[in-house]
Amino acid sequence: MAEETGRNFIHEIIDADLESGRISQVITRFPPEPNGYLHIGHAKSINLNFSTAIKYGGKCFLRFDDTNPAKEDDEYIQSIKKDVQWLGFEWEEIRFASDYFEFMYEMAVRLIKKGLAYVCDLTAEEIRDYRGTLTEPGKNSPYRERRIEENLQLFEEMRAGKYADGEKVLRAKIDMASPNLNMRDPIIYRILRATHHRTGDDWLIYPMYDYAHPLGDAMEKITHSICTLEFEDHRPLYDWVVDNTDQDPKPHQYEFARLNLTQTIMSKRYLKKLVDEKVVDGWDDPRMPTISGLRRKGYTPEAIKDFCQRIGVAKANSEVDVKLLEHCVREDLNNRALRRMTVLEPLLLEIVNYPEGKTETLVSDNHPMLPEAGTREMTFSKYIYIEQADFMENPPGKFFRLAPGKEVRLMNAYIVKYEDVVKDQDGNIVKVLVSCDFESKSGGATAGRKVKGTLHWVDKATAVPAVVRQYDYLLKPAEEGERQDFMDRLNENSLMVYENALVEPAVKAAKPGEQFQMVRQGYYACDYKEFTPEKPVLNLIVGLRDSYAKAMQQE
Ligand code: ATP
Ligand code: MG
Repeated sequence: MAEETGRNFIHEIIDADLESGRISQVITRFPPEPNGYLHIGHAKSINLNFSTAIKYGGKCFLRFDDTNPAKEDDEYIQSIKKDVQWLGFEWEEIRFASDYFEFMYEMAVRLIKKGLAYVCDLTAEEIRDYRGTLTEPGKNSPYRERRIEENLQLFEEMRAGKYADGEKVLRAKIDMASPNLNMRDPIIYRILRATHHRTGDDWLIYPMYDYAHPLGDAMEKITHSICTLEFEDHRPLYDWVVDNTDQDPKPHQYEFARLNLTQTIMSKRYLKKLVDEKVVDGWDDPRMPTISGLRRKGYTPEAIKDFCQRIGVAKANSEVDVKLLEHCVREDLNNRALRRMTVLEPLLLEIVNYPEGKTETLVSDNHPMLPEAGTREMTFSKYIYIEQADFMENPPGKFFRLAPGKEVRLMNAYIVKYEDVVKDQDGNIVKVLVSCDFESKSGGATAGRKVKGTLHWVDKATAVPAVVRQYDYLLKPAEEGERQDFMDRLNENSLMVYENALVEPAVKAAKPGEQFQMVRQGYYACDYKEFTPEKPVLNLIVGLRDSYAKAMQQE
């Protein structure tokens, strides 16, 4: 299996290509269109392209596929570069498809001269009608037999701006009866007056993706052009362009299954809609499946790459459980995140037999499995906050937290026993009175006494007010049957903010972006945009419970 050996079918192909002598070095590329931020699906492609190059001592280019000026933006270019670097990959060089516009134009002229491309005056709608269907062949365009000289002149005039947008196109002359619709004289150039983010207003005609991509691959001498399965039936056109423009060496296209994740939207177009309609707070909102969203949430590059390794690379589409992604980050952080305590909804405890004004310093491990991670100091005194949910006046059975008649351990400190509850006029609980068993101090000689519940807490005297953001999935599970618009599946409770949370003082020293395990709560990251030592802002990365690992064990 892929997860044991890291091998996949692309590696098999490469081994054969090296052996047969088709190639001597592996060259790949990751070719995003700069029309949005990268998402976790792109991470799969990045990981595949870059790791393959690394494995074979080859090269990987980062190529911006910027042939559609209407949607592209420099903001996207910057974010894509940052994401690839953050994942830990180094590109050979950055290239832009627009670097090759002149070359692509020349190749189009070559096709015209060979009688393999023609200028067509049909409207977009007519072209569609003439194209036929899966069961019916298409019809030849009345412009298909234009003479080569006329085509050359018209194409030059298209470039020079003689015609309006959409008035003419350049089409490859292949076969209007081909069973593959992509081969029915596809459009390879269109007229478009739009300012390009790099070439400005130099060009009035732009190449189409299916024509530009193989030529970009040829320019970089890509040996294995890896794309997703929906391009499988574009491959004959890819090869047609490579062959008929006489590229040497010839790049080859290979397809793999795109990543689909449960409860996750994975299309830039839809993600952009969430940003534009302000459903989320930007592309890097921690609820977004974008790489920048995952980073802001607190994911590590290691967890994302581990996930990409585990899902492997297959030729059949499937849906991966988003819980596997969560499992990967939980496992990574369990091994290295320092332990801290936070109380989200504080309830005051007064320790009646603890001297007023006294404060002890307790020393606790930063990580139970990593002695080298050292220790941190916490204070303990008469007034302590616990979680409201950890106290019940009339608890059901098996409530192993604080309640009348019960004792609990305050983690790394003392065992305390319920004494009384203090309420305001309206009957709301103001504080709970407890007494402390001074013999029970954690780590002390007589600490061995066991109680059923252990609670996290913070000391009122030193606790730091914090904002803690809990996240849930952006989408509710899809309903069976009918296809639902994802906007109707939005989870209105995907963000919950604890404005009055408290954290232990050690959190003040955190670096923005640093991750912690908040004991009994989950893994949290210090929001790298908003965190300050005076007012820590924490984002939930993932809860502690691993339903994925459990499900795997039961299988
Ligand atoms: P989207 O449909 O989300 O806009 P895209 O395919 O249009 O994605 P590109 O910028 O063209 O996005 O993609 C760059 C590369 O990433 C392509 O090679 C594409 O195949 C790959 N890619 C995009 N989405 C996924 C995915 N979900 N799983 C694996 N690879 C993906
Ligand atoms: Mg695309």
